[in-house]
Amino acid sequence: MPVGTLASVKGVPQDILEELGVQILLGNTYHLYLRPGVEQIRRLAGLHCFMSWPRAILTDSGGFQVFSLNDLRRITEDGVTFRSHLDGSEHFFSPESATAAQIGLGADIIMAFDECTEYPAEPERARASMELTLRWAERSKKYFEEHKHEVPWTTTHVEADALVRLGERSSPAPSDSAELNSPGRARAPVPTRAGETQALFGIVQGGMDPALRKESAERTIALDFPGYAIGGLSVGEPRTLTREIVEATLEHLPKDKPRYLMGVGTPEEIIEYAKLGIDMMDCVLPTRAARHGLLFTSQGKISIKQARYAGDENPLDPNCNCRVCRRYSRAYLRHLYASNEVLAQVLNTVHNLSFYLDTMRGVRHSIGLG
Ligand SMILES: [Zn+2]
Repeated sequence: MPVGTLASVKGVPQDILEELGVQILLGNTYHLYLRPGVEQIRRLAGLHCFMSWPRAILTDSGGFQVFSLNDLRRITEDGVTFRSHLDGSEHFFSPESATAAQIGLGADIIMAFDECTEYPAEPERARASMELTLRWAERSKKYFEEHKHEVPWTTTHVEADALVRLGERSSPAPSDSAELNSPGRARAPVPTRAGETQALFGIVQGGMDPALRKESAERTIALDFPGYAIGGLSVGEPRTLTREIVEATLEHLPKDKPRYLMGVGTPEEIIEYAKLGIDMMDCVLPTRAARHGLLFTSQGKISIKQARYAGDENPLDPNCNCRVCRRYSRAYLRHLYASNEVLAQVLNTVHNLSFYLDTMRGVRHSIGLG
Protein backbone atom coordinates (compact mmCIF):
# COMPACT_ATOMS: atom_id res chain seq x y z
CA MET A 1 0.00 0.00 0.00
CA PRO A 2 1.50 3.31 -1.04
CA VAL A 3 1.10 5.92 1.68
CA GLY A 4 -1.15 8.89 0.96
CA THR A 5 -0.94 10.63 4.33
CA LEU A 6 -3.10 13.67 3.56
CA ALA A 7 -5.37 12.01 0.96
CA SER A 8 -2.54 12.40 -1.54
CA VAL A 9 0.44 10.29 -2.54
CA LYS A 10 2.80 13.24 -2.61
CA GLY A 11 3.38 14.41 -6.17
CA VAL A 12 1.38 11.73 -8.00
CA PRO A 13 -2.11 12.29 -9.44
CA GLN A 14 -4.74 9.60 -8.92
CA ASP A 15 -4.98 8.67 -12.62
CA ILE A 16 -1.28 7.79 -12.64
CA LEU A 17 -1.71 5.73 -9.45
CA GLU A 18 -4.46 3.83 -11.26
CA GLU A 19 -2.22 3.32 -14.29
CA LEU A 20 0.54 1.98 -12.01
CA GLY A 21 -1.90 -0.61 -10.73
CA VAL A 22 -2.33 0.70 -7.18
CA GLN A 23 -5.28 -1.24 -5.71
CA ILE A 24 -5.27 0.23 -2.22
CA LEU A 25 -3.88 3.36 -0.57
CA LEU A 26 -3.20 4.20 3.06
CA GLY A 27 -4.40 7.47 4.59
CA ASN A 28 -3.40 8.75 8.03
CA THR A 29 -6.30 9.48 10.38
CA TYR A 30 -4.22 11.75 12.63
CA HIS A 31 -3.28 14.04 9.74
CA LEU A 32 -6.71 14.06 8.08
CA TYR A 33 -8.39 14.67 11.45
CA LEU A 34 -6.26 17.81 11.92
CA ARG A 35 -6.55 18.93 8.29
CA PRO A 36 -9.02 19.24 6.56
CA GLY A 37 -10.97 17.64 9.44
CA VAL A 38 -13.23 14.60 9.61
CA GLU A 39 -16.52 16.53 9.35
CA GLN A 40 -15.34 18.27 6.19
CA ILE A 41 -14.55 14.93 4.52
CA ARG A 42 -17.76 13.35 5.80
CA ARG A 43 -19.81 16.18 4.28
CA LEU A 44 -18.05 15.55 0.96
CA ALA A 45 -19.25 11.90 1.10
CA GLY A 46 -16.02 10.38 2.45
CA LEU A 47 -12.42 10.00 1.35
CA HIS A 48 -13.17 8.15 -1.90
CA CYS A 49 -15.31 10.98 -3.27
CA PHE A 50 -13.19 13.72 -1.73
CA MET A 51 -9.95 12.54 -3.35
CA SER A 52 -11.60 11.00 -6.41
CA TRP A 53 -10.23 7.53 -5.70
CA PRO A 54 -12.68 4.73 -6.47
CA ARG A 55 -10.33 1.93 -5.38
CA ALA A 56 -9.71 0.75 -1.82
CA ILE A 57 -8.40 2.86 1.07
CA LEU A 58 -7.14 1.88 4.50
CA THR A 59 -6.82 4.38 7.35
CA ASP A 60 -4.64 3.80 10.40
CA SER A 61 -6.09 4.52 13.84
CA GLY A 62 -4.04 7.64 14.43
CA GLY A 63 -2.33 5.97 17.37
CA PHE A 64 1.08 5.62 15.77
CA GLN A 65 1.26 9.30 14.76
CA VAL A 66 0.04 10.45 18.16
CA PHE A 67 2.88 8.46 19.69
CA SER A 68 5.57 9.32 17.15
CA LEU A 69 4.84 13.02 16.48
CA ASN A 70 3.95 14.15 20.00
CA ASP A 71 6.40 14.54 22.83
CA LEU A 72 3.72 16.09 25.05
CA ARG A 73 1.14 13.29 24.85
CA ARG A 74 -0.61 12.07 28.01
CA ILE A 75 -1.94 8.53 28.11
CA THR A 76 -4.70 7.40 30.45
CA GLU A 77 -7.01 4.38 30.46
CA ASP A 78 -9.53 6.48 28.59
CA GLY A 79 -7.26 7.61 25.73
CA VAL A 80 -4.49 9.95 24.67
CA THR A 81 -4.31 13.73 24.96
CA PHE A 82 -1.95 15.23 22.43
CA ARG A 83 -1.00 18.48 20.79
CA SER A 84 -1.34 19.19 17.10
CA HIS A 85 2.03 19.39 15.35
CA LEU A 86 0.44 22.13 13.19
CA ASP A 87 -0.63 24.72 15.76
CA GLY A 88 -0.04 23.22 19.21
CA SER A 89 -3.80 22.93 19.94
CA GLU A 90 -4.85 20.19 22.34
CA HIS A 91 -6.80 17.12 21.15
CA PHE A 92 -7.98 13.83 22.56
CA PHE A 93 -8.15 10.40 20.89
CA SER A 94 -9.88 7.46 22.54
CA PRO A 95 -10.79 4.10 21.01
CA GLU A 96 -14.29 5.54 20.50
CA SER A 97 -13.26 8.90 18.99
CA ALA A 98 -10.53 7.40 16.77
CA THR A 99 -13.04 4.85 15.46
CA ALA A 100 -15.63 7.60 14.96
CA ALA A 101 -13.06 9.60 12.97
CA GLN A 102 -12.33 6.58 10.77
CA ILE A 103 -16.01 5.92 10.18
CA GLY A 104 -16.40 9.57 9.17
CA LEU A 105 -13.46 9.37 6.77
CA GLY A 106 -15.03 6.26 5.23
CA ALA A 107 -12.03 4.14 4.21
CA ASP A 108 -12.70 0.47 3.34
CA ILE A 109 -10.44 -0.92 6.06
CA ILE A 110 -10.02 0.83 9.40
CA MET A 111 -7.85 -0.02 12.38
CA ALA A 112 -8.53 -0.51 16.10
CA PHE A 113 -6.98 2.18 18.30
CA ASP A 114 -3.81 0.76 19.84
CA GLU A 115 -0.85 1.87 21.87
CA CYS A 116 2.37 1.43 19.94
CA THR A 117 4.83 0.13 22.54
CA GLU A 118 8.14 1.98 22.37
CA TYR A 119 11.49 0.25 21.86
CA PRO A 120 13.19 -0.71 24.03
CA ALA A 121 10.58 -1.43 26.73
CA GLU A 122 10.92 -3.22 30.08
CA PRO A 123 8.92 -6.49 30.34
CA GLU A 124 6.33 -5.02 32.76
CA ARG A 125 5.87 -2.01 30.50
CA ALA A 126 5.44 -4.19 27.38
CA ARG A 127 2.79 -6.28 29.16
CA ALA A 128 0.90 -3.27 30.51
CA SER A 129 0.93 -1.71 27.03
CA MET A 130 -0.32 -4.95 25.44
CA GLU A 131 -3.14 -5.23 27.99
CA LEU A 132 -4.15 -1.61 27.33
CA THR A 133 -4.21 -2.27 23.57
CA LEU A 134 -6.48 -5.29 24.17
CA ARG A 135 -8.93 -3.25 26.26
CA TRP A 136 -8.84 -0.52 23.60
CA ALA A 137 -9.42 -3.11 20.85
CA GLU A 138 -12.58 -4.27 22.65
CA ARG A 139 -13.80 -0.67 22.99
CA SER A 140 -12.96 0.10 19.33
CA LYS A 141 -14.94 -2.92 18.20
CA LYS A 142 -17.90 -2.14 20.45
CA TYR A 143 -18.07 1.44 19.15
CA PHE A 144 -17.69 0.23 15.56
CA GLU A 145 -20.52 -2.30 15.86
CA GLU A 146 -22.82 0.37 17.26
CA HIS A 147 -21.93 3.06 14.70
CA LYS A 148 -20.76 1.28 11.53
CA HIS A 149 -23.86 2.31 9.61
CA GLU A 150 -22.87 5.97 9.95
CA VAL A 151 -20.20 5.54 7.26
CA PRO A 152 -20.81 8.29 4.64
CA TRP A 153 -21.15 5.70 1.83
CA THR A 154 -24.83 5.31 2.56
CA THR A 155 -25.37 8.80 1.19
CA THR A 156 -22.56 8.57 -1.34
CA HIS A 157 -24.71 8.38 -4.45
CA VAL A 158 -26.64 11.56 -3.60
CA GLU A 159 -23.65 13.65 -2.63
CA ALA A 160 -21.42 12.34 -5.43
CA ASP A 161 -24.10 13.24 -7.98
CA ALA A 162 -24.30 16.68 -6.43
CA LEU A 163 -20.55 17.07 -6.77
CA VAL A 164 -20.61 16.00 -10.41
CA ARG A 165 -23.40 18.48 -11.18
CA LEU A 166 -21.46 21.20 -9.43
CA GLY A 167 -18.43 20.43 -11.58
CA GLU A 168 -20.45 20.43 -14.80
CA ARG A 169 -22.10 23.72 -14.00
CA SER A 170 -18.83 25.50 -13.42
CA SER A 171 -17.22 24.25 -16.62
CA PRO A 172 -17.52 25.92 -20.01
CA ALA A 173 -20.22 24.21 -22.07
CA PRO A 174 -20.48 22.12 -25.23
CA SER A 175 -17.59 20.99 -27.48
CA ASP A 176 -16.59 17.38 -26.79
CA SER A 177 -13.12 18.11 -25.47
CA ALA A 178 -14.32 20.76 -23.05
CA GLU A 179 -16.87 18.31 -21.73
CA LEU A 180 -14.26 15.60 -21.31
CA ASN A 181 -12.03 17.97 -19.43
CA SER A 182 -14.71 19.33 -17.14
CA PRO A 183 -14.18 18.55 -13.47
CA GLY A 184 -17.46 16.63 -13.40
CA ARG A 185 -16.44 14.29 -16.18
CA ALA A 186 -12.92 13.79 -14.89
CA ARG A 187 -14.11 12.78 -11.44
CA ALA A 188 -13.77 9.04 -10.97
CA PRO A 189 -17.17 7.45 -10.41
CA VAL A 190 -17.36 6.04 -6.91
CA PRO A 191 -19.79 3.14 -6.72
CA THR A 192 -22.79 3.43 -4.44
CA ARG A 193 -22.37 1.11 -1.52
CA ALA A 194 -25.48 1.66 0.53
CA GLY A 195 -25.84 -1.09 3.11
CA GLU A 196 -22.17 -2.06 3.08
CA THR A 197 -19.92 -1.32 6.02
CA GLN A 198 -16.20 -0.98 6.65
CA ALA A 199 -13.88 -3.73 7.90
CA LEU A 200 -12.29 -3.09 11.31
CA PHE A 201 -8.94 -4.86 11.80
CA GLY A 202 -7.37 -5.71 15.17
CA ILE A 203 -3.72 -4.98 15.99
CA VAL A 204 -1.33 -7.31 17.79
CA GLN A 205 1.21 -5.68 20.14
CA GLY A 206 3.49 -7.20 22.76
CA GLY A 207 6.84 -5.49 22.22
CA MET A 208 9.77 -7.74 21.34
CA ASP A 209 8.66 -10.68 23.49
CA PRO A 210 7.44 -13.72 21.49
CA ALA A 211 5.37 -15.00 24.46
CA LEU A 212 3.57 -11.66 24.80
CA ARG A 213 3.03 -11.55 21.04
CA LYS A 214 1.44 -15.02 21.17
CA GLU A 215 -0.85 -13.96 24.01
CA SER A 216 -1.75 -10.71 22.27
CA ALA A 217 -2.53 -12.60 19.04
CA GLU A 218 -4.73 -15.17 20.78
CA ARG A 219 -6.67 -12.62 22.81
CA THR A 220 -7.10 -10.28 19.81
CA ILE A 221 -8.41 -13.21 17.73
CA ALA A 222 -10.87 -13.97 20.53
CA LEU A 223 -12.39 -10.52 19.87
CA ASP A 224 -12.99 -11.69 16.28
CA PHE A 225 -11.83 -9.22 13.63
CA PRO A 226 -11.98 -9.75 9.83
CA GLY A 227 -8.21 -9.08 9.58
CA TYR A 228 -5.19 -8.73 11.87
CA ALA A 229 -2.24 -6.37 11.87
CA ILE A 230 1.14 -6.76 13.51
CA GLY A 231 1.94 -3.38 15.08
CA GLY A 232 4.75 -2.03 17.19
CA LEU A 233 7.54 -3.04 14.80
CA SER A 234 9.93 -0.88 12.75
CA VAL A 235 10.23 1.32 15.84
CA GLY A 236 14.02 1.35 15.96
CA GLU A 237 14.79 -2.32 16.67
CA PRO A 238 17.36 -4.24 14.57
CA ARG A 239 15.87 -5.80 11.41
CA THR A 240 16.77 -9.33 12.50
CA LEU A 241 14.60 -8.81 15.58
CA THR A 242 11.73 -7.45 13.45
CA ARG A 243 11.80 -10.63 11.40
CA GLU A 244 12.00 -12.84 14.49
CA ILE A 245 8.93 -11.17 16.02
CA VAL A 246 6.99 -11.28 12.74
CA GLU A 247 7.62 -15.02 12.51
CA ALA A 248 6.73 -15.57 16.16
CA THR A 249 3.46 -13.62 15.72
CA LEU A 250 2.38 -14.92 12.33
CA GLU A 251 2.14 -18.54 13.41
CA HIS A 252 -0.65 -17.55 15.82
CA LEU A 253 -2.71 -15.56 13.30
CA PRO A 254 -5.36 -17.26 11.13
CA LYS A 255 -4.18 -18.01 7.59
CA ASP A 256 -7.62 -17.41 6.10
CA LYS A 257 -7.77 -13.74 7.15
CA PRO A 258 -5.60 -10.86 5.91
CA ARG A 259 -2.39 -10.49 7.90
CA TYR A 260 -1.02 -6.98 7.76
CA LEU A 261 2.49 -5.95 8.78
CA MET A 262 2.51 -2.23 9.50
CA GLY A 263 5.30 0.08 8.38
CA VAL A 264 7.72 -2.06 6.34
CA GLY A 265 9.98 -2.15 4.35
CA THR A 266 12.67 -2.28 1.65
CA PRO A 267 11.94 -4.21 -1.58
CA GLU A 268 14.05 -7.12 -0.28
CA GLU A 269 12.18 -7.11 3.03
CA ILE A 270 8.69 -7.07 1.55
CA ILE A 271 9.57 -10.18 -0.46
CA GLU A 272 10.84 -11.87 2.71
CA TYR A 273 7.72 -10.95 4.69
CA ALA A 274 5.41 -12.07 1.90
CA LYS A 275 7.28 -15.38 1.92
CA LEU A 276 6.57 -15.72 5.64
CA GLY A 277 2.85 -15.24 4.98
CA ILE A 278 2.24 -11.49 5.30
CA ASP A 279 -0.56 -10.33 2.95
CA MET A 280 -0.48 -6.55 3.36
CA MET A 281 2.23 -3.97 4.03
CA ASP A 282 2.51 -0.21 3.93
CA CYS A 283 5.59 1.95 3.89
CA VAL A 284 6.58 5.54 3.21
CA LEU A 285 9.97 4.34 1.99
CA PRO A 286 9.34 4.29 -1.81
CA THR A 287 7.75 7.74 -1.81
CA ARG A 288 9.91 9.41 0.85
CA ALA A 289 13.16 8.02 -0.60
CA ALA A 290 12.09 9.21 -4.07
CA ARG A 291 11.75 12.76 -2.83
CA HIS A 292 15.33 12.50 -1.57
CA GLY A 293 16.60 11.21 -4.90
CA LEU A 294 17.00 7.62 -3.70
CA LEU A 295 15.71 5.23 -6.33
CA PHE A 296 15.15 1.47 -6.16
CA THR A 297 16.09 -0.42 -9.33
CA SER A 298 16.59 -4.01 -10.47
CA GLN A 299 20.32 -3.25 -10.23
CA GLY A 300 20.19 -1.93 -6.69
CA LYS A 301 19.73 1.51 -5.14
CA ILE A 302 20.67 4.61 -7.11
CA SER A 303 21.30 8.03 -5.61
CA ILE A 304 20.37 10.14 -8.61
CA LYS A 305 22.03 13.28 -7.23
CA GLN A 306 25.49 11.83 -7.88
CA ALA A 307 27.62 13.58 -10.52
CA ARG A 308 28.35 10.23 -12.20
CA TYR A 309 24.84 10.30 -13.74
CA ALA A 310 25.21 13.81 -15.23
CA GLY A 311 26.02 12.43 -18.70
CA ASP A 312 24.31 9.04 -18.41
CA GLU A 313 21.90 8.52 -21.31
CA ASN A 314 20.58 5.20 -20.00
CA PRO A 315 17.13 4.79 -18.53
CA LEU A 316 16.99 4.79 -14.74
CA ASP A 317 16.30 1.05 -14.72
CA PRO A 318 16.63 -0.81 -18.04
CA ASN A 319 14.37 -3.58 -16.68
CA CYS A 320 11.56 -1.23 -15.65
CA ASN A 321 8.72 -0.50 -18.01
CA CYS A 322 7.30 2.47 -16.13
CA ARG A 323 6.50 5.73 -17.90
CA VAL A 324 9.63 7.36 -16.39
CA CYS A 325 12.07 4.66 -17.49
CA ARG A 326 10.48 4.48 -20.95
CA ARG A 327 10.90 8.17 -21.56
CA TYR A 328 13.72 9.82 -19.59
CA SER A 329 17.46 9.36 -19.11
CA ARG A 330 19.38 9.24 -15.85
CA ALA A 331 21.11 12.45 -16.99
CA TYR A 332 17.78 14.27 -17.20
CA LEU A 333 16.53 12.93 -13.87
CA ARG A 334 19.83 13.94 -12.26
CA HIS A 335 19.51 17.43 -13.76
CA LEU A 336 15.93 17.82 -12.45
CA TYR A 337 16.98 16.74 -8.99
CA ALA A 338 20.09 18.97 -8.92
CA SER A 339 17.96 21.92 -10.10
CA ASN A 340 15.35 21.26 -7.42
CA GLU A 341 12.59 20.98 -10.06
CA VAL A 342 9.17 19.80 -8.80
CA LEU A 343 9.13 17.32 -11.68
CA ALA A 344 12.07 15.46 -10.09
CA GLN A 345 9.89 14.49 -7.11
CA VAL A 346 7.02 13.45 -9.35
CA LEU A 347 9.08 11.28 -11.71
CA ASN A 348 11.18 9.74 -8.93
CA THR A 349 8.05 8.83 -6.97
CA VAL A 350 6.33 7.32 -10.01
CA HIS A 351 9.33 5.09 -10.67
CA ASN A 352 9.78 3.96 -7.06
CA LEU A 353 6.08 3.14 -6.73
CA SER A 354 6.24 1.26 -10.01
CA PHE A 355 9.24 -0.71 -8.75
CA TYR A 356 7.46 -1.65 -5.51
CA LEU A 357 4.25 -2.60 -7.28
CA ASP A 358 6.23 -4.68 -9.80
CA THR A 359 7.96 -6.39 -6.88
CA MET A 360 4.59 -7.32 -5.37
CA ARG A 361 3.24 -8.43 -8.77
CA GLY A 362 6.28 -10.74 -8.96
CA VAL A 363 5.48 -12.06 -5.47
CA ARG A 364 1.87 -12.77 -6.42
CA HIS A 365 2.98 -14.49 -9.63
CA SER A 366 5.37 -16.69 -7.64
CA ILE A 367 2.63 -17.56 -5.16
CA GLY A 368 0.37 -18.46 -8.10
CA LEU A 369 3.06 -20.80 -9.41
CA GLY A 370 3.33 -22.39 -5.98
ZN1 LIG B 1 10.82 2.87 -13.83
